[in-house]
Amino acid sequence: MSRGKLKINSDKIFPIIKKWLYSDSDIFIREMVSNATDAVTKLKKLEVIGEASFEEGEKLQIDVTVDPEKKTIRFTDNGIGMDANEVEKFINEIAFSGAEAFIEKYQDKTSDDIIIGHFGLGFYSAFMVADRVTIETRSYRPDAEAVFWSCDGSDEFEMRTSEKSERGTVITLYLKDDAYEFCNEYRVREVLQKYCGFMPYPVYLTTEGATPEMEEVETDEKDADGKPIMKQVPKAPVPVNDTEPLWMKTPSACTEEEYKTFYRKVFYDYKEPLFWIHLNMDYPFNLKGILYFPRLSNRYESAEGRIKLYNNQVFIADNIKEVIPEFLLLLRGTLDCPDLPLNVSRSALQNDGFVKKVSDYITKKVADKLTGMCKVDREAYEGYWDDIAPFIKYGCLRDDKFEAKVMPAILFKDIAGKYRTVAELGFTEKKDAAPVEESEEAATEASETKAERTIYYVTDLKEQDRYVKMFKEADLEAVVLPDEIDGAFISLLEAKHEGLHFKRIDASVDEALRDDTATDEKQEADLQTRYDELLKEEAPKIVLQHLKDVRTASLITVSEESRRMADMMKMYGMDAAPELKGKERTLVLNANNALVQRLLTAEGGDMSLLALQLYDLARLQNAPLLPEEMEAFVERTQTLLATAYEVEDETAK
Ligand code: ADP
Repeated sequence: MSRGKLKINSDKIFPIIKKWLYSDSDIFIREMVSNATDAVTKLKKLEVIGEASFEEGEKLQIDVTVDPEKKTIRFTDNGIGMDANEVEKFINEIAFSGAEAFIEKYQDKTSDDIIIGHFGLGFYSAFMVADRVTIETRSYRPDAEAVFWSCDGSDEFEMRTSEKSERGTVITLYLKDDAYEFCNEYRVREVLQKYCGFMPYPVYLTTEGATPEMEEVETDEKDADGKPIMKQVPKAPVPVNDTEPLWMKTPSACTEEEYKTFYRKVFYDYKEPLFWIHLNMDYPFNLKGILYFPRLSNRYESAEGRIKLYNNQVFIADNIKEVIPEFLLLLRGTLDCPDLPLNVSRSALQNDGFVKKVSDYITKKVADKLTGMCKVDREAYEGYWDDIAPFIKYGCLRDDKFEAKVMPAILFKDIAGKYRTVAELGFTEKKDAAPVEESEEAATEASETKAERTIYYVTDLKEQDRYVKMFKEADLEAVVLPDEIDGAFISLLEAKHEGLHFKRIDASVDEALRDDTATDEKQEADLQTRYDELLKEEAPKIVLQHLKDVRTASLITVSEESRRMADMMKMYGMDAAPELKGKERTLVLNANNALVQRLLTAEGGDMSLLALQLYDLARLQNAPLLPEEMEAFVERTQTLLATAYEVEDETAK
């Protein structure tokens, strides 16, 4: 037996490691299983080149055994193993100096700047949860002696030869009293599923001393009646992990059902995904993964995406925004990128050219999928549109390149329920086309002529129903833009397309809704005076117009700019978000309507009753009234009814 001193000062190291790992000390399990997987992979490689051999039929695997009585967790592999020199070199020197280098590099960093998934701590992370760690290992080399190593986390270790007869490594962690959760099978299974759910060799979890589950199987022997004799045997163990995750398969070999099953299993979502994109790339970098577009159960459910990042089938972390373009975090999926530099800080990742390329590639693939579907399978694409629209619009706002590529696949649903592309709506002229590589669309767009174009839109079909009906009757076109993000999205479109204006359907009365009769300006001014006298500074701007639809007496319009400004202030939650009032709203009175004509000649009480009633009727069809406004409206209506039915007007009391 020998004792040795490590060149490490753990008193200095643990507080620092602890500072980061307090919330996920469970990653030591990932590190142990990763090391075991590496050991098995190395053995397999040596076997391929004829430098190692193992018995035929021997399964390469990893066993995790918890012992609640002894308070230990054990990791066993039948991989490459180590001899005494290797333990000296890899554990005493490399593992410890690796941990030390890691600490030195990161001890001054703020907690936001730590490396992704705490990669790099490796073997040493065992001391996060254990007061003592032992290694028993035997190298694959036939002449090597097995080694026993033990260390209590201080700078001293002991090493001696061991009786271990099988090839491979057993690492045992004697858990600290605040880490006993890691000798509980359920807890450990949860951690294994999280980090090791897709590792490439089977990982089995058992509790020491637990009686194995049994099952009945037929034997070859028969009883007197000729029936096979049954016997009880332990059930075949089931690995915790799926060693061949779907993303590793070639896309052409995957079935639709497999994609759906995989989605359900990984994201616990029993709603089927809308569609998915299988990324599979070997050159110039290695990237595999599947991105799913989830189905939202209702429009107002905020999309809660989750992109799981893997490194060679080892889980790193969820939603790493440094690697994945932010807007893609609304999707669900798995991404496996073995080439990612994980042992650098997050801020370094953000500025890494390679990472940028990966994220650009993903963005391009998503845009290609969407434009491809829009072209090839328009009907299905239209079916998805309402669900994916907020996501795509958000992406356009976040990422210029994505916007440029995906624009041909943006759809607008009109009030008749028909979907149109940007080209079909007739605005393709770009003001300052963002640089688009290899895009034919951009070239054709540029040659088209500039045109002023106004597109009417509806934000709420119920609230704006009066206007929608008028539009439908006059065969006018308007698109439906119901999402909160649409406000910002149309501003983006206007900024990008010369001469394009979006106007909410209640922003003005389109020419097509009016006849050619000129407005009598004197009458209009007269009406303005009447309303100003009645409503003082609350009075709206009055416009007298000849609307074709004689049934409409009055309508409110609100200027697009003031309304957008008010919406924006509301969105930013400004305290004094002003309701549009006074002359910011226009009351359009229809000169073709008999009530309006009557208003022109009415006097006194009659006049004010009619004027206010026409005003409120217009407002009711634009937006809900405030309680006191509603009360005044109800009273006035009762007065009118009392007159019509020749009964006493109780509201006058
Ligand atoms: P890393 O895995 O990043 O190299 P670690 O600190 O985790 O760093 O491990 C240090 C070294 O110890 C590994 O590179 C490997 O050579 C050796 N090692 C650790 N665990 C095992 C194991 N189960 N079987 C064989 N070698 C191992």
